[in-house]
Amino acid sequence: MFTIGCHLSASGGFLAMGQTALQLGANTFQFFTRNPRGSKAKAIDPQDVATFLALAQAHGFGTLLAHAPYTVNPCSKDEHTREFARMTLSDDLQRMEYLPGNLYNFHPGSHTGQGVEAGIAQIADTLNEILRPDQHTTVLLETMSGKGTEVGSRFEELREILDRVTLSDHMGVCLDTCHVSDAGYDIAGDPDGVLTAFDRVVGLDRLKAVHINDSMHPTGAHKDRHARIGTGYLGTEAFARIINHPALRHLPFLLETPNELPGYAAEIALLKALRTA
Ligand code: FE
Ligand code: FE
Ligand code: ZN
Repeated sequence: MFTIGCHLSASGGFLAMGQTALQLGANTFQFFTRNPRGSKAKAIDPQDVATFLALAQAHGFGTLLAHAPYTVNPCSKDEHTREFARMTLSDDLQRMEYLPGNLYNFHPGSHTGQGVEAGIAQIADTLNEILRPDQHTTVLLETMSGKGTEVGSRFEELREILDRVTLSDHMGVCLDTCHVSDAGYDIAGDPDGVLTAFDRVVGLDRLKAVHINDSMHPTGAHKDRHARIGTGYLGTEAFARIINHPALRHLPFLLETPNELPGYAAEIALLKALRTA
């Protein structure tokens, strides 16, 4: 099964997202658990979730990806920001229990001058506080572009975080194609080499989802500006290789390209045409 979708607005609830996904030709989607720049979470409506789950089952949806707000930074030098990250991640994971078996992705954080090692330690400390043995959600570290003081642009940094998390069975990684390219990994030109490096350092069994974005900047630029598929430095042929790669093709692919819904529908159609049987 080709599991393909895009980022959708969560403002109308889960059934609305499911219906929109179907209209776009998608069989999964990503959503923010709350306003990406704010803090207040809307209460979950169990009836909305139940109706959505029936729709998702009827239409063979794949794994969903929830995304934490951008304001979550577990390795800020500011203690209040770290406390907000703990509260938000913990609260989001409780709400995710309404949708058992799905994925929750967050940006590992920006160390804001404390240094990468201190950042890694604080990220792992936060995860050790919020993960629960009986949770039904896998928490993903997103591969980052390395802009500013971002932690998680090197595979070694992700590995170090995972090594320090006690309940690491509940942890995985989401590979963002724009971010890894911006971080300096030539995912377009040498996907085999990049995925071999990922396997050696992190382990391909940790890889649970792919953010499929072209990049407005060349490899190593550390900019994090997403482009529509085929309009950036990665190019359409690279995405044909990525979505069909034996190490990736079983994973859910989520678009986060600068698009309105018709643009997403066109990209999903393009990727489906590029997918081999
Ligand atoms: Fe992200
Ligand atoms: Fe992403
Ligand atoms: Zn990004």
